[in-house]
Amino acid sequence: MDIVASYRRVIDTPDMVQGSPEDISPTRFGKIVDLLKASGRTDCCVRGNEPTAHAEFERLLAIAEKGRIRVHVETCGLLTAEARRLLEDRPLPVILKLYRPSVYEPGQLEEVAAAIGAINAAYPDRLRVCAVIDDLMQPLDYIESFVGEVGARSVAFRIVCPKELDQLRAFTGDFVPVVTGLGTTGVRVSLECGLPPCVFSDADYGALAKLDCLPMRCLPQPGVLPDLRVFHCWSLISRATGNLGAFRQTGQALDFLFSTFADAQCDLRPFADCTACPSASSEACVGPCLALKLERIEEDVARLRTRVEDDATQEDLVQLGVRYWQLRKFSEARDCLVEARRGDPGNGGVHLMLGRVYHRLGDLAGMEEEYEKAARLSREPAPVLAELGRAFGAVGKAGKARKVLARLSALEAEAQSHQRV
Ligand code: SF4
Repeated sequence: MDIVASYRRVIDTPDMVQGSPEDISPTRFGKIVDLLKASGRTDCCVRGNEPTAHAEFERLLAIAEKGRIRVHVETCGLLTAEARRLLEDRPLPVILKLYRPSVYEPGQLEEVAAAIGAINAAYPDRLRVCAVIDDLMQPLDYIESFVGEVGARSVAFRIVCPKELDQLRAFTGDFVPVVTGLGTTGVRVSLECGLPPCVFSDADYGALAKLDCLPMRCLPQPGVLPDLRVFHCWSLISRATGNLGAFRQTGQALDFLFSTFADAQCDLRPFADCTACPSASSEACVGPCLALKLERIEEDVARLRTRVEDDATQEDLVQLGVRYWQLRKFSEARDCLVEARRGDPGNGGVHLMLGRVYHRLGDLAGMEEEYEKAARLSREPAPVLAELGRAFGAVGKAGKARKVLARLSALEAEAQSHQRV
């Protein structure tokens, strides 16, 4: 799990974020360490704009050491003398975020190389360079020379999301030779998310596979903010939600993040390339990054709202309801779908969507009524009833769930007897 220890910064970077409180309190940090221990975890990554700038960074390290949680420190490498001493004295894994050279003031990149080279020399092989790539048009030749200078044996590549697929496809022509060049010198190379399989040619994909360096899927890389809200990944930090204190295991936080974004994550409709893609159907890819999907969904909402305000068609209202639902704006989704239902009360699809929305709003009577209407209006009521049964089960209404599932069994028995006739 990633822990954002501090929003303090020493340079302005392209992946910089803002938030409050500026530092995580040692008490909250201790609670996270306890949760990690209770979950059987042994590691965490302490990060932020610059976590070593935390006013009590040494105390955080001591709390983690006491809890036997190994801290990986992600840093921009511009360190105070005190932070440098702390990292030189301890054998902690260090992740150095390397940006394009124009991000740094004159002399700063050399300062980073000197500090990080010394830290790596103190405990060799604990350094990973993470090349953070925000501008796909910039040359990448600085990466190899920096890695050689500091003696890193492991390099990860992180694309700052979201990026369009065609931009990424154009980028891989320059990118893959850098990755394979490093890989063939014995450096371990890895790709973080942001680069789905389709952006690579078959030859490039094969070259990366030989280095065991294949694209990761856009799945939660959970993290927690100083106020204990949890986030899906760094690119979606502004959508942090929930509270880590509500979970007894880190796995519950992961489940929560999955379910929070599942409706948007599963939606490949805005991306023409993805709808018939074998990588999607074989689950090798979950589509473009979630940050891009959410951006597209919000664009749709803006477009549909204008249309609905001018002269709403039934289709616009339903689509807007679905888009709100994907963004977990359930009250707005309900309002759109209720209006759509008024215009077309015999539309089973609208009743089904309303049933789902009432479920999320905790209105179980509304949920049941709408699912039942959807089942009555459908030529195939079984999947609708199965969903209603699952929905009752999910909210702890076991008796209701059993009754619905009994009706489902009766329907199946009836269908089988018709087939025999
Ligand atoms: S699902 Fe979409 S993003 Fe993923 S590999 Fe296929 S075309 Fe690319």
